[in-house]
Amino acid sequence: MKLLKARWLIDSIGRAPIDDGRVLIVDGRIAAVGRADTVSASPGAEVIDLGEATLLPGLIDVHGHLSLDMSRGDVEAQLQEPTPERLIRGVQILRRNLKAGITTMRLCGESRNFIDIACKRAVTNGRLPGPRLLASGNAITSSHGHGLGPAADGVDEVRNAVRRNIQAGADLIKIMVTGGLSGKHESPFSYSYSFEEIAAAVEEAHRAGKRVAAHAHGGTGLRYCLEAGVDTIEHGAYMSEDDIALALEKKAWVVGTFGVVFHPDGLERAFAHVPSIVEKVRQARSEIGHNFKKVVDAGVRYTLGSDSMQGHLAFELECLVTFGVSPFEAIIAATKRAAEACGLEAHIGTLEPGKWADIIGVPGNPLDDITALRRVNLVIKAGTRYDQMSFP
Ligand SMILES: [Zn+2]
Repeated sequence: MKLLKARWLIDSIGRAPIDDGRVLIVDGRIAAVGRADTVSASPGAEVIDLGEATLLPGLIDVHGHLSLDMSRGDVEAQLQEPTPERLIRGVQILRRNLKAGITTMRLCGESRNFIDIACKRAVTNGRLPGPRLLASGNAITSSHGHGLGPAADGVDEVRNAVRRNIQAGADLIKIMVTGGLSGKHESPFSYSYSFEEIAAAVEEAHRAGKRVAAHAHGGTGLRYCLEAGVDTIEHGAYMSEDDIALALEKKAWVVGTFGVVFHPDGLERAFAHVPSIVEKVRQARSEIGHNFKKVVDAGVRYTLGSDSMQGHLAFELECLVTFGVSPFEAIIAATKRAAEACGLEAHIGTLEPGKWADIIGVPGNPLDDITALRRVNLVIKAGTRYDQMSFP
């Protein structure tokens, strides 16, 4: 039994922050949450008093990768590293993210050999410290498509690729539809899958009860994704008014990933030697904030992912605030809404009795200064404390 105390508490249900907040944890779940005068623990409970700090639900990174760390640069080389090397890096990435207050990560595609599914099993079994994981296995891409992975061309190969991922244990399916910012010979509007191929992936995945995440920035490819019933549009940097209207109608999610574009250690530095990519990043910087605010204002369901900016989910919230979203709504996006996008809203995303005890603490009040989320000083996942662990 643990009793957490802090000056403020944000439960992410949507109501005002609670002053003098308390959370009682019993057997890995939240037993009680509220003001000091409403929550008490028996004498033997471990008391963790954070003082002038805020308790909030563990952060959920809805778009992550284990095979890619943008801050290292050399993106293409990383994706081609042998599996053992990528696996060890992945283990370190999981630790870094957990320490940063990310208690759940939805992994959006690795290059090969299902290291994400192996890590997911190890974390689930308690053999590896890390955020709770959702894995998508190999990203499904065409021979000339975005990212690296075993190519799947044509409806039949796409169906096979979906089935192989599900057989291996994938929780969701990731399909690369449009080009990206990091490819030398692609644009955010180019697209490498036909409508029929995308629809086949969605049909196969949905029949097995799995959601589909599509890498899509804008243009016809993104439109096809929405029409085919993709569940989450990843990135969505260039959604038009029509796309936004269709996303609303289809109840699709948009997962914003801003750090790769805006963070100084992002694409700009990793690809400083490739002028065409630097130009695309500068272009994106001038448009993404404005575009994403339109997505938010229209009422489209949205959440956030750090992509390959490992440990920097807090920066995504900072970007959102820069775009004009309130710190409160940014926190809701990375907790409650993120849980919904993952299909885990029954268990995580808010601080409510009965939910899994995924709770973080930050000094001060993030509603006054969103950068407080960079300084996570308490990490509890399913009732177990992780912030005091030290590792490389
Ligand atoms: Zn990604």
